Amino acid sequence: TYLDYIGSWGPMILGHRHPRVVAAIEAALARGTSYGAPTEAESRLAELIIAAVPSVEKVRMVSSGTEAAMSAVRLARGFTHREKIVKFSGCYHGHADMLLVQAGSGVATLGLPDSPGVTPGTVASTLTAPFNDFEAISTLFESQGDQIAGVIVEPVVGNAGTLLPRPGYLEHLRDLTTRHGALLIFDEVMTGFRVARGGAQERFGVRPDLTCLGKIVGGGVPVGAYGGRADLMNHVAPAGTMYQAGTLSGNPMATAAGSATLELLGEEGVYERLEAWTEATCEGIEAIALEAGIPVTVNRCGAMFTIFFHAGPVTSWEEARLSDTKRFARFFHGMLDRGIYWPPSQYEAAFPSLAHGDHERQILLEACRAVFALLD
Ligand code: PLP
Repeated sequence: TYLDYIGSWGPMILGHRHPRVVAAIEAALARGTSYGAPTEAESRLAELIIAAVPSVEKVRMVSSGTEAAMSAVRLARGFTHREKIVKFSGCYHGHADMLLVQAGSGVATLGLPDSPGVTPGTVASTLTAPFNDFEAISTLFESQGDQIAGVIVEPVVGNAGTLLPRPGYLEHLRDLTTRHGALLIFDEVMTGFRVARGGAQERFGVRPDLTCLGKIVGGGVPVGAYGGRADLMNHVAPAGTMYQAGTLSGNPMATAAGSATLELLGEEGVYERLEAWTEATCEGIEAIALEAGIPVTVNRCGAMFTIFFHAGPVTSWEEARLSDTKRFARFFHGMLDRGIYWPPSQYEAAFPSLAHGDHERQILLEACRAVFALLD
């Protein structure tokens, strides 16, 4: 038995096998698993997303976060008639070739420079910049602004470990892209319905042109979605000419699980509970680390957080890399030995859920105390 703080890398915000999600999947399954056509359940999920995510007026369902990011980039290029895309070091947007450049998550953990199989031609139009560096992105736009189709960013980074945007940074990206006629794409596959119901764009009050979603919106069943301003989304076929389709997109089981999850997340006080639990837990961990004399930086946003084994601050991939990963590895194994299923990389976020209460926090902190005492 393990206490799970991976939560399938984000989707399981209600915990595993929530009865209402299971019932919704069972009911969908009894009706049929795929029809190759839009269903009422798909529209229902779309309505829930549009109602919650401030910038999304129209949304298209796909089957993974990778597809969502890939399609949003194609749409940005098709709409602007430009080729270049900017991404940030340490951000991960799934495994589409053109986005596998200086990527975070498993790519960073395994120290892969750039994945074999990704050809130089595929990534020739992908520019990279350090996250949270105001100057670097301004300089890129000064030199190549008229060729940039869009900027794709995890507004709160999860895939380099949790990194919060510096005050004004998301506004800076909004301003630069608007001035240069490029699109701003928030990849909220991880942050959507997690750092707030309306994602990072609600929490930080910055509206992107396009938003990528996944994970929670499928309630633990494969899903992805991208959406944004109606005038942009109207370029997607069949309304427009940018082609994108998928045999199993908007699958009945995924949309049933997703809708049940989003409905539950709409209940009174849910995000306050997630926030309070995570805040108290992070404070507990900081106190234990201090007591043990182990320098850490705990970065948190809503219900996602990372314990960096580094005195900090940690605001970029470049700073995250200064962490003591050997010490992290000992921490990870110590926790696993004590029944805690923790993300097995320094460069990932922990994802608490509504199934974690006071009892689970107590078990987690006891394990932390025991393991920190063994670290040197
Ligand atoms: N974008 C972000 C921010 C992610 O964290 C991930 C996956 O971890 C993806 C995209 C890719 O999603 P998927 O694994 O569903 O393809």
